[in-house]
Formats: sequence, C-alpha cells, structure tokens
Amino acid sequence: MRKTMLVTDRRYMNHFAGPVHPERPGRIAAMIEMAEGLKRSALKHAAPRPASVEELMLCHSQEYVAAVERTGQQERSDFDPDTHGSAETWATAILAAGGVLTALEAVLDGEVNNAFAIVRPPGHHALPGRAMGFCFFNNVGIAASWLIKIRQMRRVLVVDWDVHHGNGTQEIFYALPEVLYMSTHQYPFYPGTGWLDEIGVGTGAGFTVNAPLPAGFGNSEYLRVFDQLLLPIARQFKPEFVLISAGFDAHFRDPLGGMQVTEDGFLEMTRRLQRLADECCDGKMVAALEGGYDLQALAESGRIVIDELGRDGDEYVTKAKNGLRAQPIIQRAHYFLREYWQTDPGD
Ligand SMILES: [Zn+2]
Repeated sequence: MRKTMLVTDRRYMNHFAGPVHPERPGRIAAMIEMAEGLKRSALKHAAPRPASVEELMLCHSQEYVAAVERTGQQERSDFDPDTHGSAETWATAILAAGGVLTALEAVLDGEVNNAFAIVRPPGHHALPGRAMGFCFFNNVGIAASWLIKIRQMRRVLVVDWDVHHGNGTQEIFYALPEVLYMSTHQYPFYPGTGWLDEIGVGTGAGFTVNAPLPAGFGNSEYLRVFDQLLLPIARQFKPEFVLISAGFDAHFRDPLGGMQVTEDGFLEMTRRLQRLADECCDGKMVAALEGGYDLQALAESGRIVIDELGRDGDEYVTKAKNGLRAQPIIQRAHYFLREYWQTDPGD
C-alpha cells in the first residue's frame, strides 16, 4: 500500500460563481462526502494552507493578484462572461493554490507517497494576468513553478486530462523547457487552443504536447494516446515530479464535455502515470482537481483515482491495442514533435 494524502476543506465551498453556474460549491461537497466514505488506513487527510502573494506571483502579475484580492470587498465581480467572483473568492482561490502546495510539501517531506488536492476554484485556464473559464489562479501552474523555483527541480511533468485545453498552463510554460505540459482535450471546443502545432517556443520548443481529440472519443482512444504519444515522450523527459490536472469532465455523463471516458478510463490513466512516476521519480505524484460538473461522475471518478493512488505498482499495464481512431492524431503529433523526441507512433 502506498500512503496517499487527501487535501481538502469545506471552505472550498465558499466561492460562489453565480446562480445556476456549473462550477458550484456542491462539487466539493460531493467529493468530501465520497472521501469520508473511504476506509483506507494509509489515507491521510490534511487541511490546505493558503498560498502567499509571492507564491501566486510565481505565475501571475502583481496587478492581477491585487485585482483578485479586491473581490473580497465586493458582493460580485465579473472577470469574463463565465468567470465571476464573490466576496469569498480571494480567500477560496488562495486556498486552492495553497492546497496543491500542501500536497507537494507532504510528498517531498516523505510524509506520503502521493496526494490528491480536492480544490476549487479550478486553475488551468487562468492566465498570468487574467481570470478565465471559471479559473482565478493557476493552481497546478503555481505548483510546477514552485517545484522549479523554490525546490530547484529541473524537470516537472504536468499531465492535463481535463476535457478542456489548459490554455493558461500552456501559456505560462510555453517558452520553458523545465515544465513538460501534456494535454488531452476535446477539439474543437472551449477555449479554442491546443492544436497539434502548439509545441512551445524558443528553448521551450518540444515541451508542450497537445492531443486534440474529436468529441466522442473514450477510454480506448485516450489510452492509446497515453501509450503511443504521451508516455514515450514523458519517459525521455524523465520528470522529477508528476502533476496531474485532474478534471473529470471528459466523463461520458458530464454536461459540458462531449467525451465518453468512464471511471475505468481514469483508473487506467492514473495507473500509467503512477508507473511512469515509479520509474522516474520514486512515485512522486500529486493530482489536483480541475473541472467535472456531473456530481456523481465526479465523485465516482475521484474515488477510483484515489484508490489507484494507494495501490502498489506491480499490476501489469497492457499496451492499448484498440482506439485506432486516435492513430492519425498520434501520428500527426509525432510529426510536429519529431525534432525534439525519439518518436515511434506505431501503427
Ligand atoms: Zn474542464
């Protein structure tokens, strides 16, 4: 058994994005209810710490951080057509960014092997100077920057399986070779970024890997993308830490996404990343919640991932043989990345 930490807090329910908004406090309630039902002795529960302004500024401008802080003085503030703040947004958002750091600290200190930060609001659309797509601070981006700049790591992998492209995370690290950002996402879809030719710039070229997938793809296509594209490149990168932007809106029941992933698909993706982390960095891995808007799908998928995080790494992972519909995308991705990685897209 591995030791897993769950970082969460009812205070994550305090941010209110507006009436009938899909990114709602009940998402955290559903996850906490699920987590309270888990009976594992190797599970540690921890409360998050808030991120400091300096930590937020690892990824965000001072002006923007101050603008989010001002939400505390207003009943409601509008950042973009679907991103709204309430008086509790600042306090909740710094706790979301800090919650992922709490998880990192526990793993780095050896207190646990890995962790899941059940946080809200989500982060992967948040840009250096702008809130976007329900996101205020880029929780996982701040975590990756913190590992690089505070803990002097040189190679951090971010895998983003949320159904939406993590345009904020991509932008933050687009010119940096220290963070390898990999995303599977529905395409074309919100926010519109994440095509195959977006591979990074300058010394960061090759360190952004996008797998834009048409609506309707499910477990077999996702696993093929993992086995033939993401994992072979990640193994060459040899991360010192693995971060997962774990949204569950690629689930077939999600009201926003159009994908067909099931709980079993999330389990298999987690298992593969755990094997990768075992090979490269002693299993050091932290997942952070991003999207996921069907409460039952969210809680069930979260349960599966947390269970898998606790499992030892001796199960055999079979290479995906199905999911052939993903093959043309995999081949084109390899084509764009051919100068940077040894590639064998298979057939
Ligand atoms: Zn999403």
